[in-house]
Amino acid sequence: MARILVTGGAGYIGAHTTHELLRLGHEVEVVDDLSKGYAHNVPEGRLHRFRLQEQAKLDELFASRPFDAVIHFAAFIAVGESVREPARYFANNTGGSLALFESMQRAGVNRVVFSSTAAVYGDPPGTPIHEEMPLAPVNPYGESKLMVEKALNWLARTTELRYVALRYFNACGAVAEFGIGEEHDPETHLIPLIFRAIRTGEPLTVFGDDYATPDGSCIRDYIHVADLASAHSCALDHLLAGGGGGCFNAGTGRGFSVLEVIQAAERVTGRKVPYKTGPRREGDPPALVAEASRLRAQLGWQPRFTSLDEIVASAWSFDARRFGS
Ligand code: UDP
Repeated sequence: MARILVTGGAGYIGAHTTHELLRLGHEVEVVDDLSKGYAHNVPEGRLHRFRLQEQAKLDELFASRPFDAVIHFAAFIAVGESVREPARYFANNTGGSLALFESMQRAGVNRVVFSSTAAVYGDPPGTPIHEEMPLAPVNPYGESKLMVEKALNWLARTTELRYVALRYFNACGAVAEFGIGEEHDPETHLIPLIFRAIRTGEPLTVFGDDYATPDGSCIRDYIHVADLASAHSCALDHLLAGGGGGCFNAGTGRGFSVLEVIQAAERVTGRKVPYKTGPRREGDPPALVAEASRLRAQLGWQPRFTSLDEIVASAWSFDARRFGS
């Protein structure tokens, strides 16, 4: 059992990880300013509502309990918004992280799992993407996360801090027993938007059908949020056992096109997905698929969800509970 502080634990991936850590018997406290997340995602009595930049509150929380480690999710995640408001993204994502690391240092807490992103690779030279490929973000969101990775790297070289940065590919799905799922406002992610199209009859727009992929639509690596949550717990175990850490891709190693995801949703729901084709979305690389063996080999991670249909089905059951099918 470890005492863990989870930042951003009211968000989609943070909340799934919080529930998973509690299920495994850890003590968990959550810091979240609820600017994006939801209080109903956090188990009763564990939420501390403030921003990471409110350092006196952070210091007070660290002083109140002997935390063993931090899992740091708190960040803005919308790529398009980051292009429109870069300073806000750097202030929140990079600035918030630096405030957290300072407080951790003051409190003598020196283990952290950081939620990074495949966006640190930008438009990669090919797939699958391995961790040593060039880091060249193509938007402020990816850069704000890469800056944190760089800060962590320096902290690990110069202090006792040890970290694991997990570079997420496309998180999706839900865990029924936790009663939570993907709820972004506004929603920009493919799978919830497919369900919205099914429910409302308003067609989904497929962003581009002229990519150099087999069916012309973009290919992504869709990873179940439960498997992402377990990647965090593997990272935590590794760090608490004295492991050195580093950066790891968190993906399945398999890619699916937008049209394949639509077909999976039709199989799972038994309903037609109304869709039309539109222009490409700015900043979308044709294919992002992880080379994901480092996470398995070095952190002992074993994903449970291996089929796209299973992943889509778990997302659909959350969506149906939320909206009625
Ligand atoms: N996508 C799409 N229509 C939409 C939303 C997304 O065609 O309304 C595509 C998008 O271009 C990308 C894939 O679905 O290729 C996954 O997009 P999402 O926004 O879910 O995640 P991202 O890849 O941006 O992290």
